[in-house]
This record gives sequence, C-alpha cells and structure tokens, in this order.
Amino acid sequence: MTALVTFKDVHKSYGTLPVLKGVSLTVPEGRVVALIGRSGSGKSTALRCINGLETIQSGTLEVCGRKLHEANCDLRHLRMEVGIVFQSYNLFPHLTVEQNVTLAPRLTGKASQAEAHEIARKVLEQVGLAEKAKAYPEQLSGGQQQRVAIARSLAMQPRVILFDEVTSALDPELTAEVLKTIEQLAQSGMTMVLVTHEMSFARRVADEIIFMHQGVVWETGDGSMFDSPQTPELRQFVGSGL
Ligand code: ADP
Ligand code: MG
Repeated sequence: MTALVTFKDVHKSYGTLPVLKGVSLTVPEGRVVALIGRSGSGKSTALRCINGLETIQSGTLEVCGRKLHEANCDLRHLRMEVGIVFQSYNLFPHLTVEQNVTLAPRLTGKASQAEAHEIARKVLEQVGLAEKAKAYPEQLSGGQQQRVAIARSLAMQPRVILFDEVTSALDPELTAEVLKTIEQLAQSGMTMVLVTHEMSFARRVADEIIFMHQGVVWETGDGSMFDSPQTPELRQFVGSGL
C-alpha cells in the first residue's frame, strides 16, 4: 500500500518549546487516520507540518512523495495535493458559494472558467449543497458554510485532506451534518487525517486512531482502544469524556 504521509522521528519546536518530540506515523492511501489527544498535545502542529505550514527541525516527513525535510521541497505543489479544513471556515463573504469554491482552481491555473464551473457542480454535489451555488455565505448556516469549506478543499482535487476540529464551533445538529459529509467522503475512498474531539465519530470512521500525548504518539489502535486503553494516559483521556 502506498503511504501518502510518513513521519519518522519528527521533532518540531516553536522557539525553545518542543511540541513534536519524535513523532512517527503513517497514513496509507485511501485510509482515514484520526488524531486524538488533549489540547496542547501537538495535533494541530502535526497537521500543519503535513501541508508545509510549519517546518520540522529533525527527522523525516514525506507527503505525497515529497520530502518536506529537505530545504528545496516544492511547497506550492504540495499544497495543491494536500487540502486542509479548519474550525473557522473563512469563506469570502462577497463571493458566492460557487465563486468561493472555484477561486483556488482558477487562481492556480488548474481550471479554466468552464472547467471550474463543472468542478464546483461536482464538489457541491459531494457535500450536498448543489442548490446553494449562487448563495452567499451569510445566507447559509454554520454547518453549510463548513461544508462549502470542505467543497473548496475538494475543488483542488487533493490526494489527502486534513481536518482540524472542523466541528468545534458548531451546535450539535450542525455538527452532525458536517460529520455526515466527512463520513461520506471517507466512504468514497478519500485519504484523510482528522483531528477531532468526537470520539464516537473517530471510532466509526477512522481505520486507525492515534492518541497523542505530550508531543509523541502514545498509543495507536482501532476503535476498540477506547474499550481497553493500554496506558493510564489514554484511560484518563477517554474517561474525561473529551
Ligand atoms: P493541539 O492541536 O493538540 O491542541 P497544538 O499543536 O496546537 O496542539 O499546540 C501544541 C503546543 O504548541 C501548545 O503548547 C501550543 O501552545 C504551542 N503552539 C502552537 N502553535 C504555536 C505557535 N505558532 N507558536 C508558539 N507556540 C505554539
Ligand atoms: Mg489543535
């Protein structure tokens, strides 16, 4: 199986603060990996390293065949292959849904106007918002806006998508519709890394769950690890209901 993301003994600090302290993990193509752990354990940093928003100090990090630990790595092309969706969706308020979704493919020259239209139709369909193409973000619910942000990421036809707590700012009923969209993407074979607090969702959707603690991969497994944690730290984390 091809690995799209491979961390080997990755170390990353912010100034003098070590945040990733020897992380090794692999995301195979077509698989869903969930990163869980306490706030501050380094989950967002790990995601940001994957799409080159952060550089690492030591170890090796390969993403879509690119060696990110090498100084001359082509980050521009990397970011076309790796989508990232954040908690805040940051749609442009003055652009329609379709314009938001097609902006990146247009600007990067990946798609002509006609192709962009077709891409928008397809990705909005994928997130269940085909009928909202001409709407403006403010006319949509928070859950719908987050689904547009997911569609925007899909429009670049990435090989892997990273989700960083994308439902944390949403009410429960809006959370459910966004999680459903992500689950459908997972079923379509999209490779993804999910940072989430939604443990039942992680359990249902992820092929592998990685528990990060204090900047290292502390424990890994499938959904059954919640029933039988091997470490006191995971037991405590699961017990805390986070
Ligand atoms: P998580 O996503 O698991 O909550 P983060 O990766 O966001 O963890 O943060 C890990 C640690 O790194 C925290 O102590 C946080 O305060 C620190 N940190 C995160 N981003 C930065 C930054 N840009 N500059 C300095 N410190 C940061
Ligand atoms: Mg985070």
